[in-house]
Amino acid sequence: MPLIDGQGRKHDYLRISVTDRCNLRCIYCMGEEGIEQITHENILSYEEILKVVRAGAELGISKIRVTGGEPLVRKGVVDLIGSITAIPGINDLAMTTNGILLDKYAAKLKQAGLKRVNISLDSMQPEKFNKITRCGKLEQALSGINTAIEFNLHPVKLNVVLMKGINDDEILDFLELARSKPLHVRFIEYMPIGDHDCGYRDHYLPLTYIEEIAAKAGLPLTPVPLPGGAGPAESYTIPGGQGTIGLIHPISKHFCDTCNRLRLTAEGNLKACLYWQDEKSVKPFIDDHKALKKLIQEVLNNKPVEHQMGCDGKCGSLKPGSMRSMSKTGG
Ligand code: SAM
Ligand code: SF4
Repeated sequence: MPLIDGQGRKHDYLRISVTDRCNLRCIYCMGEEGIEQITHENILSYEEILKVVRAGAELGISKIRVTGGEPLVRKGVVDLIGSITAIPGINDLAMTTNGILLDKYAAKLKQAGLKRVNISLDSMQPEKFNKITRCGKLEQALSGINTAIEFNLHPVKLNVVLMKGINDDEILDFLELARSKPLHVRFIEYMPIGDHDCGYRDHYLPLTYIEEIAAKAGLPLTPVPLPGGAGPAESYTIPGGQGTIGLIHPISKHFCDTCNRLRLTAEGNLKACLYWQDEKSVKPFIDDHKALKKLIQEVLNNKPVEHQMGCDGKCGSLKPGSMRSMSKTGG
């Protein structure tokens, strides 16, 4: 029996944030001083995470993404990948990472059963990369990307948050990257999310801008099936491209009607929608397999129809959106 939410949408995808900590401080994700961190006692243990995955898998979850914060800063994450791989019913296991530690971990992750990675890369200019991440070194991220290709964590997808006045001058460079390397470059619209002043108002740009720039440069985007399975990205090729271009537009053309995701935060709260405050802790039910399964279904029964990101309070909602930053929810 598939796992169906209150709106009749089939859910087979669980995204797990294994930590809210990070070795970078991206301007759109958290404030300069970082976030108030979850204490070690309050973070969900790997054993507890595995209990949730087992319950989910019995209900119809088959895809898992391990994310964060930065998943590779949590000790023992390779073992967690191995344990998730062994759970019957899980047939797709991916990770979202900033790539900084991939040189160290890519081989071990592949061996443990990780299928593929999404790597965040918002600039290919060293100084700008350092400014956006507030401390990152571009060469480490690029090296991580090459290592992911080398260890066949395929398809290697790059996540690029498009920011007006910050990286919108690099669109053609990213298109060139997807032409010259087997990389799937996905542009993502800037989301107003979290409690810090995230700069959304100043830097949001709809992704129609990418299509305009590509067309002007004589690089028409031709639609193709999505690499590595379904997802919210519209996928395109460019002439002579080894990789593809993806457009993910949660604001200008949201994809809530086909949403198949459930999220587990680092402290163990199930969230059916990235945007809304609604969340339920798995902790009271963690040792009761049946109750855990019931909770998962309950959370999905109450999943909202759609988010209201970018609405500026004009959509008539009676409840507030979440104040969690992406690093706390798991992007
Ligand atoms: N640390 C990892 C990384 O950066 O890939 C995983 C966690 S990060 C929260 C997951 C994804 O969320 C990244 O691709 C990041 O670019 C995206 N993200 C974070 N804040 C965002 C925002 N305000 N708008 C759009 N995407 C955002
Ligand atoms: Fe860290 Fe990822 Fe957030 Fe950047 S986007 S601060 S790398 S969690």
